[in-house]
Amino acid sequence: MPLSEIYIHGEVKKALLASLAMGKLANSLLFFGQDELGMKKTALVLSQALNCERMENDACGECSSCRAIIKNNFPDVIILGLKEDDDRKTLGIDFVREVRPLALMKPMVGKNRVFIFEEAERMSIEAANALLKILEEPPFYTYFILITTNPDLIPATIRSRCRPFIFKAINPEIIVGELISKGYEPGKARLMALLAQGSLERALTMDWERIITQRQKAWQFFQSMITEDNFFLIDPLTSSKSLDFKRDLEMIMRHFLTFFRDLLLLEENGDENLLLNPDLTDEMKGLKLQVTPEFCLKGIELSQEILSGLERNLNAKLLGLYFYVQMRRKK
Ligand SMILES: [Zn+2]
Repeated sequence: MPLSEIYIHGEVKKALLASLAMGKLANSLLFFGQDELGMKKTALVLSQALNCERMENDACGECSSCRAIIKNNFPDVIILGLKEDDDRKTLGIDFVREVRPLALMKPMVGKNRVFIFEEAERMSIEAANALLKILEEPPFYTYFILITTNPDLIPATIRSRCRPFIFKAINPEIIVGELISKGYEPGKARLMALLAQGSLERALTMDWERIITQRQKAWQFFQSMITEDNFFLIDPLTSSKSLDFKRDLEMIMRHFLTFFRDLLLLEENGDENLLLNPDLTDEMKGLKLQVTPEFCLKGIELSQEILSGLERNLNAKLLGLYFYVQMRRKK
C-alpha cells in the first residue's frame, strides 16, 4: 500500500511524501498523537518506502521487501518496544546498547535501516541519553521513528533531535463516511467510529464479534450501576494486570459513553434511528424510568473525563474509583 493510501491525517501524508520526493526525509522522526495504529501503520509503510524495490519515493506494497516488512520479517526494519505481556514499565539502557552497533552498520539486505520505537515514552532516562548519542549523528542509511501518544514524556533533548509529525484524530463523521463507503451498514459504522478514537486504521481493523462481546460485558456493568445499590465497576477488574485494567476501563468507558448517549436520546424522545446501540432499545427503555437526563449528561461528561485522563496516562485505578464515587453520588 503506498503512503498516499493509508488512512491518516492528510497533512502528515503530504509532509512525508514531500520529504521523500525531495530526498530530504529527516533521519529521526517523532510520530505523536492519539492515532496509535495509524502511526504504527505509517511507520511500516514509510519503512517500505525507504526499501521498496520498485518505487523510488513510495512503497509498492508488493515487492519482496515491502511484503517482508509488513510481516515484520525484514532484517533491516526493526521494531522495538515492550511486548504486551511484559510487566516492565520502562525500556532500559540494555536495549539501546543492542541498537547502537546495528545503527552504525550498513543495512544487510535493504537500502536503509529503520528502527521503529513503539511507546517511545517508556524509555528510561539512561536509555534516552544513550539513544541521544546515536541520534546526534546517524549514518545516512539509518532512520529512527519514535512513536508516542505522550510526547511530553519524551526528554526534550530527544524531541529536539527529531522532526515532529502530529497525527491528529480523524473526525468521527469522516470515519463513518469511509466505513459506509466500504459497505458497512450505517448503524454499525456509527458505533465503530465512536469506538475508534479518531483512528480510521483502528476502525478498519476492528473485530465486530469482539466489540459485541465487550459491549455485552460493559452493558452488564452499566445495568447494575443503574439498578443496584452497590454496583461494582472496580472489583471484577482489579485482579487484572495494570495494563489490562487500563484497557478494560477504556473499553468500558467508551461503551458507557454510547449507552449514556442512547439513554439521553430516549429520555428526550429523539429519533431512534440515531441510536448507537439499536439492538438494546427495549432494555434501555426499561432503564429509562430509573434515570434523569441530568444523570445521563453527568455520565457523558464523566466518561469523557475518564477517557481523557487515561489518554494522559493518569492512574487508571484511581480514575475508575473516581468514576464510581461520582456516579454513586449522582444516583
Ligand atoms: Zn515495494
